[in-house]
Amino acid sequence: MTEHVRVIIIGSGPAGLTAAIYAARADFNPVVLEGEPSSTSDQPGGQLMLTTEIENFPGFVDGILGPELMGNFRNQAERFGARMHGAKAARIDLSGRHAAIWASDATSQEPTYTADAVIVATGARSLMLGLDNELRLVGHGVSTCATCDGFFFRGHRIAVVGGGDSALEEALFLTKFAESVTIIHRRDSLRASKIMQDRAFASPKISFLWNRQVTALHEQGGSLSGVTVQDMAGGAEERHDFTGLFVAIGHAPNTDVFKGQLEMDDLGYIMTQPGSTATSVRGVFAAGDVQDHIYRQAITAAGSGCQAALDVEKYLAAQEA
Ligand code: NAP
Repeated sequence: MTEHVRVIIIGSGPAGLTAAIYAARADFNPVVLEGEPSSTSDQPGGQLMLTTEIENFPGFVDGILGPELMGNFRNQAERFGARMHGAKAARIDLSGRHAAIWASDATSQEPTYTADAVIVATGARSLMLGLDNELRLVGHGVSTCATCDGFFFRGHRIAVVGGGDSALEEALFLTKFAESVTIIHRRDSLRASKIMQDRAFASPKISFLWNRQVTALHEQGGSLSGVTVQDMAGGAEERHDFTGLFVAIGHAPNTDVFKGQLEMDDLGYIMTQPGSTATSVRGVFAAGDVQDHIYRQAITAAGSGCQAALDVEKYLAAQEA
């Protein structure tokens, strides 16, 4: 049977759960579709569940583990009456007066929920190389965020995979900590902007492995101990003793389920109106990385989750007036 709710929040990273805290405290009894507990890509808590120590989230003088921080967000939202539903939005229909949301099962006749307002906070995912033990090693030598984790690699020999602006930005940032930074790129020329290339080529700590792909990650005691790379032409393999590997081959927003319904940019990020979290559909708001490919920080996502809940409050009040 379909349940009608005032506010549904899709996603349970910092943006979704901050929106939930605010919407719950405004007495909207929001439902949070928090993702599939068994999934690695749609898991509850978002990208911070894949990190270890977080030292730059304000308020935690000694840092906090990513999963612990997200557990705190969740408990705080539940304390004010937010309801967590361990499922992902399998199908969404935004064409009617009320948004219709199918949880888990896209094929069932009736939607699981209809809602007066929706906050989309489905986040983005770092693209990964797809190697067997890669996800297991995230937080143990493998990372997708130099700003978050670079500090832990003081004195390490680090590799960065990718040839775009992100890879070079990560590499340049990592030179502050690393003994050396090696950029592994699958071609012999970079995609990154000229200015970033100039900076990378000028850095004495940065070197390049051209026309190479990473084919295996080696571990010792549960942490990364080395990397095998292979020539793109399928030639000889070489092993390097990198103890840090930053994967910077791009991000993708989790917006498939909204395609054709919400206005998006060329990269698939949801467009919001300037100075607001409102999307192209009335009553639908977006917060966090799903609408931001620039800042991508837990604190900025949380801030926009707060904004989305305040925008919803104003929207629902106007509907009732
Ligand atoms: P990107 O521009 O799409 O670059 C991705 C890089 O990863 C490319 O060099 C690509 O190789 C490589 N790659 C993709 N899949 C791969 C795979 N499976 N294995 C190995 N390598 C792979 O992504 P981005 O660097 O994240 O940048 C995204 C956007 O944000 C861009 O518009 C960028 O300019 C912008 N950005 C700007 C700044 C800045 O201005 N400071 C910083 C970061 C990002 P190929 O080159 O062979 O395709």
